[in-house]
Amino acid sequence: PSGGLIVSFGEMLIDFVPTVSGVSLAEAPGFLKAPGGAPANVAIAITRLGGRSAFVGKLGDDEFGQMLAGILRKNGVADDGILFDTGARTALAFVTLRADGEREFMFYRNPSADMLLTPDELNLDLIRSAKIFHYGSISLIVEPCRSAHLKAMEVAKDAGALLSYDPNLRLPLWPSAEEAREQIMSIWDKAEVIKVSDNELEFLTGSDKIDDESAMSLWHPNLKLLLVTLGEKGCRYYTKSFHGSVDAFHVKTVDTTGAGDAFIGALLCKMVDDRSVIEDEARLREILKFANACGAITTTKKGAIPALPTESDVLSLVKG
Ligand code: ADP
Repeated sequence: PSGGLIVSFGEMLIDFVPTVSGVSLAEAPGFLKAPGGAPANVAIAITRLGGRSAFVGKLGDDEFGQMLAGILRKNGVADDGILFDTGARTALAFVTLRADGEREFMFYRNPSADMLLTPDELNLDLIRSAKIFHYGSISLIVEPCRSAHLKAMEVAKDAGALLSYDPNLRLPLWPSAEEAREQIMSIWDKAEVIKVSDNELEFLTGSDKIDDESAMSLWHPNLKLLLVTLGEKGCRYYTKSFHGSVDAFHVKTVDTTGAGDAFIGALLCKMVDDRSVIEDEARLREILKFANACGAITTTKKGAIPALPTESDVLSLVKG
């Protein structure tokens, strides 16, 4: 691994996914245990590409927590920000694959260990050593992990890290849509890089239009780069000086889980040692092409973590 350290903050959990679509987990003939959680996926996306990452979050001191910590270590993610809660269990998600291909989630989080992370427990030296601090907002929902989230962001920022935010909207986790919007917007103007999906753009703007005007309505003065991912249509990018879009790659998609995490992981990996790429449109477009390829490859295999590509996998697709 090489390059500056990227710290990814938030939750890691296990998805129980039925082996067939169109039925609930209880009715399925079998299920798979898929490790996930967007911040953990991003941390592993980075190490798989040869970059350096650490995961900061709390797991239950149970077999699931040990399994997840083992997966992070096996993938070369630094583990000195991982905490174990002796009283609470690791977060779990029970997934239904709807017949139309969409996923529905039911969560065990009542409360799960990740939600009990406190500001006092954070490994501040690790957070201060980050060149990029990446986070998603599920940990914003309740205390004490909300305070831990806000403190980690502040410490990283004060130490000079670039803040990168992916809202990772999972509506069933919030008490209401209104609260989700409010919490996401409450930290909106802190991040310098923000990645939203087309669905999140619609949700946050309250409009079903996905165009430059709606994306720019989310712009804030501290922002350096806003990305809107559009699945098989690629991505759009916005900076202070220019904007445009980069087409996706055509691949045989079997499961889109983790594509967005692979995309942002690839982007951060390519800009961690040189933030000036944000001001150079040609170089930024090259990196977004790489990130699109990384996202595309992740859709060609089931699950997120097993599907994340290496740098040479991505370069093969980019070079055709
Ligand atoms: P999210 O997972 O956050 O909803 P997307 O599904 O938009 O994000 O995926 C992120 C990126 O991965 C896209 O911008 C695109 O480059 C790539 N990608 C996703 N789905 C596909 C697909 N079906 N075919 C090709 N590329 C894809």
